[in-house]
Amino acid sequence: MHWLAERVRLFDASGIRKVFELGASLPDPINLSIGQPDFDAPESVRQAAIQAIQSRKNTYALSQGLPELREKLQAQIQAEYGHPDREVFITCGTSGGLVLAMMAVVNPGDEVIVFDPYFVMYDVLPALMGGQVVYIDTYPDFRVDVDRLSRAITPRTKAIIWNSPANPTGVMATEEEVRAVAELAMKHNVLMISDEIYRAFSYDRPFVSPARFNPHCLVLDAFSKSHGIPGWRVGFAHGPRPLIQEMIKLQQYSFVCAPHPFQWAAVTALDINPSERIAQYRRKRDRIVEGLKDYYEMTPPSGAFYAFPKVPWGTDEEFVERAIREYQLLIIPGRVFSRRSSHFRLSFAAPDEVIERGIEALRQLARKG
Ligand code: PMP
Repeated sequence: MHWLAERVRLFDASGIRKVFELGASLPDPINLSIGQPDFDAPESVRQAAIQAIQSRKNTYALSQGLPELREKLQAQIQAEYGHPDREVFITCGTSGGLVLAMMAVVNPGDEVIVFDPYFVMYDVLPALMGGQVVYIDTYPDFRVDVDRLSRAITPRTKAIIWNSPANPTGVMATEEEVRAVAELAMKHNVLMISDEIYRAFSYDRPFVSPARFNPHCLVLDAFSKSHGIPGWRVGFAHGPRPLIQEMIKLQQYSFVCAPHPFQWAAVTALDINPSERIAQYRRKRDRIVEGLKDYYEMTPPSGAFYAFPKVPWGTDEEFVERAIREYQLLIIPGRVFSRRSSHFRLSFAAPDEVIERGIEALRQLARKG
């Protein structure tokens, strides 16, 4: 295998995938490891996809995306931010936008600031471009210390990756925090990249984008979670036109375009209000917080569909290994998302009955130390 490039040695297969594979071999697991909603796409959206395929929308789309979808999104974004040169294009999910953003801005040796714990791609992608990841530890409450962030910025800093509501903690930044980070990035002329894939899943207060305070902010978003279509790979990115134009150019030479028929279905998805489903997820969040509060140290999640409790004994790997072996409970070791090994991630994107079984198993496990 001498022909393999050095970069494949930079990281291991995602720890999430390992739990996923283990889960597939168990007959009746309590699966709290899933990073996607347990609801399916609404009927009208599924029909729109079928209709698009039947009416032969199976060709390539424009690299920047279907005009009908792009124009609708552009109007929404214009109404929300009013920035004169903010432009949107269609990506292959949020991940596609992240890859293109990293390709567009990271030179070898450049620094990218990531808050620990972080979504798994945030440290791998900058490293793939030859960049240096600068981690800012946010334990134990997963809030951002703006002074610390300020001290971490150097002349080599290119970007700050921001994610609120966050995977894996479910924590949402306050408006003051968002504003402080957005303004700091502006002051230092560092690109703020805001991954807003969980914005619809904001339970306790309205979602606030850093783009409100920073017209240069690059926003990445997708229909994956809000509309239950992660497999369709349709997302979008918006930001200052010159950056967006470079990302579209890179898309032309990599992904080509987001899936064409599903972009038609996304036009229909834009008219769907997911608030009823989000209300169900708020109740699931309440149940998890209530069910675990006397047993685990945990910052209550305000958004997304994850909680990130501290393990009550042992390391994250020991704890997760025993959860799987003794209870068929699938959860993810915190180390997958962090440089620390002290927590675990659970997802409450699961049926209520699975959540109840999970809470019971976790209560028993907490006593076993
Ligand atoms: N960002 C975050 C924070 C995520 O949790 C995920 C999916 N787990 C993604 C991006 C990837 O989203 P997509 O499926 O739209 O590429």
